[in-house]
Order: sequence, then structure tokens, then C-alpha cells
Amino acid sequence: MVGKIIAFGGLVVIVMPMVLLAAEMVRFGRGKAWARKQFENDRAEKFRNWGATERLEILPLIDWYAAKEGLLTEGGVSYLLKTDTRTILFDLGFNYPARSHPSPLLQNMARLGIRLDDIDTIVISHDHPDHVGGRKWQARKSFSLSSTQVDLGGTAVYTPVPMTYPGLQPVVTEAPTRIGEGIATIGTIPNQLFMAGWTVEQALAVNVAGKGVVLIVGCGHQTLPRILERTEALFDEPIYGVVGGLHYPVSDSRITPLGFKIQKYLGTGKVPWQPITRQEVFENIACLQKRHPRLVGLSPHDSCDESLDAFRTAFPQAYRDIRVGEAICVSRGTG
Ligand SMILES: [Zn+2]
Ligand SMILES: [Zn+2]
Repeated sequence: MVGKIIAFGGLVVIVMPMVLLAAEMVRFGRGKAWARKQFENDRAEKFRNWGATERLEILPLIDWYAAKEGLLTEGGVSYLLKTDTRTILFDLGFNYPARSHPSPLLQNMARLGIRLDDIDTIVISHDHPDHVGGRKWQARKSFSLSSTQVDLGGTAVYTPVPMTYPGLQPVVTEAPTRIGEGIATIGTIPNQLFMAGWTVEQALAVNVAGKGVVLIVGCGHQTLPRILERTEALFDEPIYGVVGGLHYPVSDSRITPLGFKIQKYLGTGKVPWQPITRQEVFENIACLQKRHPRLVGLSPHDSCDESLDAFRTAFPQAYRDIRVGEAICVSRGTG
């Protein structure tokens, strides 16, 4: 009897993971098909008269590399965007692994002389922990600049999925939405990620007068070709630049809990046993080169150094490193 129980237990241990894997593969396949269908059925209406800004400054507050000593880095994203009329905090970093208060984001803000009062708008690209301020906030369908939620006054907030924050009423921007003079979210584009599930992400578009549209991207789970296609469907202005995360962890992963290269095997929109290849990175580069961008900056938070080098080489004039504390500026008079 005992022998039978042990044999049955052994069978369960062997069979259960296979059953779970099969179930995940079915879910993944269905999700991919549904995301493709949603994107193909999307009929984005042209944005006209959405305004423009004379100047755009993108100041990375959180990312993997820093421009100066004394600034903190981590595998997350937070960029401060300044236009003629708005000061936008795009994503809120990871606050990982320390989960500290003040967080690396708040500490960097203090060192760079940025006050909370300076920020009038927050845009969240998607609800992954490296963009909403940590796992705790992701689990609560919320977001935070630190391990406690600071008073954000009357800050306007735009999120890709429903989220809450004490005292604020975030607006869900599933559809493309103008949020200020020459500033719009291109709306959400979904993708199915293995294990991580259905992921809905938005990118921000800023129209710089005399230049064109600069795209600010979080993790890039939407995929670069779809982001470019959506942007061209929405705006008459040419794509001037793309700055942010596009998820090309080919040879390495920045986040490695217990040694597991999580970005390389999960989060790519592919099955773990077929990670992103160099060839795919070059195909994406070719897709971007067709648009002749004048500004390209790939976030190191979810791409390996090899992919950063590939972009640097492919766009020798346009490429800008994304480094905490080093502003990237575009204005009518530059370039
Ligand atoms: Zn990310
Ligand atoms: Zn992500």
C-alpha cells in the first residue's frame, strides 16, 4: 500500500509540471493570436491639430547606467519629460532589491534638484514591477515613487489599465489620447508573455515643432514594428526619434533573481526555449532604419550591452546613450 502511494506521488511530481506547461502553452498561443487580432482590427483615427512643443527634454532618473557618480541605478525605468507646458514623470522605477524609502528614484530626484511639486503629470507605460515602483504596487494594481506612497497633490495620471492611488483618479488611456500640447499616448497595444501573461502597454508621443514625433517607450512589449505602425497611423508628422526600452536581452539579462535570467526567458513575447536572437534585433533595427530617425536611445534596463552596441553602430549619428542624470534634448533649433 505504502509502495503504491509513493509510486503515485512520484507520478504526480513528474506529470504535474508537464500538465502545467501544456496549459501555459495553450494560454500563450491563444493570447498571442488574440493580441495579433486586436492589433490588426485596430482602426486608429488620425490625430490632427494636437499641437507641438518647441522643446523636449528627456532626463533619465532611473535606468541601468548613470552619467555621474552618486546617482543610483537599477533595472527599471523612470524618465522626466519636460515640454513647453508640461513636466511628466514617465514610469516610476523598480525600487529593487532594497525596497527602500526614499527609493533610488526619490534619491536621484533630490540629487538632481527635482521636487515632487515640479511634476504635473505621471504616465505609466505598463504594470510591470520595474515601471510601477516595485512588486508590492504591481500586486495592488497601484504605483508608487517609493516604498510608501507619497502625497502627489493634484498630479494628472494616465495608466494603460485600471490602477488606483490615494487621493488621485488615474485616467485609463486604452485608446490614443491627447494629454497636453503636442503630447499624446499612442494607446495600448497588448501582447501575451509566457508565464507573465496578458500585458498591455502604452508609449508616449511628443511632437517637437519642426522635427516630428519623439516616442518614449517603457519596456517595448508591444514590439517595435507595432509601435511604429500605430504611430504612423495616428500622426502626419514623421517619426523623429525613439527613446526607451525595447527588450532585447540577447546575451544577458539585467534582472537575475536566484540566478535566473528572467528578462531573457520571460517577457520576450516568445517561448522561453526560443529567446530573442541577434537576427531579430537586426530585423528590428532595419525596421527602424526605414524611418530614418534622427534620435535613437535604447534603454539598457531590458536590453543587453550587445544589443546596445548593435543600435549604436546602426545609428552612428542619431544614437544617444540613456544614462541617469544626462538629459537628451530636442528642440526646433537643434540637429
Ligand atoms: Zn521594463
Ligand atoms: Zn515589462
